[in-house]
Amino acid sequence: QKCLKLIKKTKFLNSYITVTEDLALEQAEEAEIRFQRGKPLGPLDGIPVAVKDNFSTANIETTCASVMLKGYIPPFNATVVQKLLDQGAVLMGKTNLDEFAMGSGSTDSIFGPVRNPWSYSTHCRDRSGQTPGGGTSDSDWAVTGGSSGGSAAAVASLTCFASLGSDTGGSTRNPAANCGIVGLKPTYGLLSRHGLIPLVNSLDVPGIMTRSVHDAATVLAGVLQGHDPKDSTTVDYPITPINLPDDIDVSSICIGIPREYHAPGLSSETLSHWSRTAELFEKAGARVVEVSLPHTQHSIVCYHVLCMAEVASNMARFDGLEYGYRSAVDSSTEAMYAATRHEGFNDVVRRRVLSGNYFLLKHNCKLFVVKQIRIGHLGYNFVLMFVCCVCFRLLTPTTLTEAIRYTDFTKEDNRTRSAQEDIFTQPVNMAGLPAVTVPVALASTRLPISLQLIGQAFQEQKLLTVANWLE
Ligand code: GLN
Repeated sequence: QKCLKLIKKTKFLNSYITVTEDLALEQAEEAEIRFQRGKPLGPLDGIPVAVKDNFSTANIETTCASVMLKGYIPPFNATVVQKLLDQGAVLMGKTNLDEFAMGSGSTDSIFGPVRNPWSYSTHCRDRSGQTPGGGTSDSDWAVTGGSSGGSAAAVASLTCFASLGSDTGGSTRNPAANCGIVGLKPTYGLLSRHGLIPLVNSLDVPGIMTRSVHDAATVLAGVLQGHDPKDSTTVDYPITPINLPDDIDVSSICIGIPREYHAPGLSSETLSHWSRTAELFEKAGARVVEVSLPHTQHSIVCYHVLCMAEVASNMARFDGLEYGYRSAVDSSTEAMYAATRHEGFNDVVRRRVLSGNYFLLKHNCKLFVVKQIRIGHLGYNFVLMFVCCVCFRLLTPTTLTEAIRYTDFTKEDNRTRSAQEDIFTQPVNMAGLPAVTVPVALASTRLPISLQLIGQAFQEQKLLTVANWLE
């Protein structure tokens, strides 16, 4: 009930698309009874959670923040959603995002942009009485980052304890960093993608957003991870519980600082907190070394070619026949397809579909897609994985700066900014590795600055142990 009250109080943040109030109250009541009988279902029994609106939820509208899927009610739950419910989690609602998870601001939604809760935080006013990042006028507030901005704002505004995002190139870590919470991108294949409406199948993973590293570990290992027969890319490993020790000794670990991540546009404050944190590790006895990831500059290009190619084939299913929106144009089947897609998708999605189909033309495919797979998936993977194996963990910024104001975000060429923003996050998806973002400081704007730790594949225990120390 407290969480529901907070959802109503923070409606202006626009973090939820659908609030499942009745369901939440019913689930909470059932959990209460189990609790009184001393028989909770699991670690999340009775715990309020929220789910990004690109995960299918049985009998609950799932829109992907797009005209195309508005009104679409899936007949089944995504596996990760089902796992949450099986453990007694209380579903508060479905959260806002960039249309079909394409973006880095959560500003491209048919339901309007998501606002960063820090812009309205009363206990964080600076000396002149200003709230951080603005928050005073209707447009003067900071963005949440994206594309899972609704899930990040929902956790940061305390309307739930954990939320699901999706992470294809940083969509969980970017908004988590901007909203000062923990954002975990698990190893590709550890969590089921069944029921997650795909963006780039070869890179997508469900992401976990929480208030603490401990909570992220509980949601991951206690509830979500594990093989799913409905997703052939999940690995059939025995599930190991994650135990985060209270007393963490980092003296035996090696932390790599990638040289190429000193990227153009990195704010001096972020850089200084990055250096300071590396020093902190060093003082605690860890070995901190500079490493080189020479493919970094190619990574964004590779990502975009692969992303567009996969988007083109993924979006082909939205033809006006099977699900959601259908245009009134009916002069021919082709005209209906074209009009449905034109009216149903925003220009970001249409642009990726067009470019993707261009890259997939027979004579372009070899030139672009195969080459990008070689450079990106193989080249980059290999180097990043190799460095992670030798060096165990990498410490990098998550974003170039703290969250920027909506007026600035929309003033600049949004898409260029979007591509730049992903520089620290999307190489991790190309390599399929786990990474976690942790807030480490407040910028002079009093908005959070976060850093990212990248780990070895399927070594979430080690990664979260170090993240817990950092937290
Ligand atoms: N910003 C990236 C994009 O627009 C990442 C998206 C994501 O991770 N879902 O493609």
